[in-house]
Amino acid sequence: MTIPTKLFIDGAYRSPVAGRPTPLVNPATEAVFAEVDSATPADINAAVESAQKAWENGWRDMAPGKRTEILFNVARVLRENLEYLAQLEMQQIGKPIADARDEIGLGARVFEFYAGAVTKFYGQTIPVSRGGIDFTLRQSMGVVACIVPWNFPFPIACWKTAPALAAGNCVILKPASISPLTAIALGELAHKAGLPPGVLQVLPGSGSAMGEALVTHPLIRKVSFTGSTSVGQRIMQLASAGIKRVSLELGGKSPNIVFADSDWQRAADSSPMSVFANTGQDCCARSRMFVERSVFEPFLETFVAATRKLIVGDPASDQTQLGPLVSASQRASVEEYIAAARSAGTRFACGGSRPSGTGYYLEPTVLADVGSNDRCWREEIFGPVVCIVPFDDEAAMLREVNASPYGLSGSIWTNDIRRALRVARRVESGVISINSHSSVHVEAPFGGYKQSGIGRDLGMAAMEGYTELKNIYIADN
Ligand code: NAD
Repeated sequence: MTIPTKLFIDGAYRSPVAGRPTPLVNPATEAVFAEVDSATPADINAAVESAQKAWENGWRDMAPGKRTEILFNVARVLRENLEYLAQLEMQQIGKPIADARDEIGLGARVFEFYAGAVTKFYGQTIPVSRGGIDFTLRQSMGVVACIVPWNFPFPIACWKTAPALAAGNCVILKPASISPLTAIALGELAHKAGLPPGVLQVLPGSGSAMGEALVTHPLIRKVSFTGSTSVGQRIMQLASAGIKRVSLELGGKSPNIVFADSDWQRAADSSPMSVFANTGQDCCARSRMFVERSVFEPFLETFVAATRKLIVGDPASDQTQLGPLVSASQRASVEEYIAAARSAGTRFACGGSRPSGTGYYLEPTVLADVGSNDRCWREEIFGPVVCIVPFDDEAAMLREVNASPYGLSGSIWTNDIRRALRVARRVESGVISINSHSSVHVEAPFGGYKQSGIGRDLGMAAMEGYTELKNIYIADN
């Protein structure tokens, strides 16, 4: 299998002008399996300038039907290379192969959606009071920087690049330094599918050095970022100098609320994967569970039994549900939370230890009766740890749900439609599901309230976010 290890600039693989490559470690084997180049400021300049030329000389003015055709081709080429991309994703972050295949398919669907959206992206005609004709245009911005995290490297790269390209922008894609491979491959495959040189370029490298140089480059018009809240804050600060547009998809501490009138057995059986999928490294992880007291103990018992059945192991196996954590440092960070829970005297319903053997594995861990000031309850752990607490009163429960600085996602389990809608309206989050754990739909907006972010990925909202809105008035007398 070819491993893409270079920068992808102006339609070709390039070596950086200087610097040493970064080793990539397979988290399941703890072995280095590749070394990937890092972009320098000179490479960033070359890439951004070539993207600006590609935008001015063709991409922004390309007939919408032609852009649609190219983006559909990208989706087709991604599907043809699904297994290759899935294997790369599995090696670089330990993603279970079945999930990796699903996520590559999701990326292709995102390109299909925005390929179709190009010719359905309407403006308005406005009956202004003085008469004449007034209408709006959605115009592309120029070169946008898309900075993505390591937990869903390929789908998030597609969530950002596909609508940005569909809206007529050129893109510089920056993957996380530990998960660059599928992003680089996306650049090459999209080019093979007909994307002109310079329209999508991929620059691997460190966040602090390379990411900041990219964000502050004067030709970058917008930064679309997914990652931690602290880095999101830094990007917002850096973008403020040039009043650059930003959209930020940040951390989460999402609630899973179970009422006694729900089909709570089904909720208990299905909820472990709402927090432990991707080994808990998921911004939408339902990591705070609120269960109505009258069903709390039987719920916990069923939840723990379902958790014990999860298959943790080799990501290459089709049966594996949970792989390792992404790195030794990520596991160490999660273990600090587990240690804090132990010293606080928290009840461990299951898990809390490393399994023996190679790989950055950690048992799925269920903490019950956690104190509302405990770190595990308040902070995003980003690992396989869930906190479950009972509640008695809906209003008090909602106050605690909304006490979090985050507001990304969440679930409500109830069979009372009035309660479902009342609580869904009250939860301060950008996404909420009722009797489901689903958070992401290609066609619907995705993003957060409060410190979970600004702006939206996916749906038509994402495409709007990659445009400037222009109003044109024509006098008719
Ligand atoms: P991170 O913030 O460390 O890094 C994200 C990206 O930003 C990487 O490409 C990194 O190299 C880059 N970066 C780091 N510092 C930078 C800087 N100073 N300037 C510019 N770029 C910089 O996040 P991570 O550890 O890769 O991902 C985990 C975090 O992402 C979690 O907090 C998780 O909740 C969040 N996340 C959010 C969503 C969402 O849609 N809301 C989705 C996935 C992950």
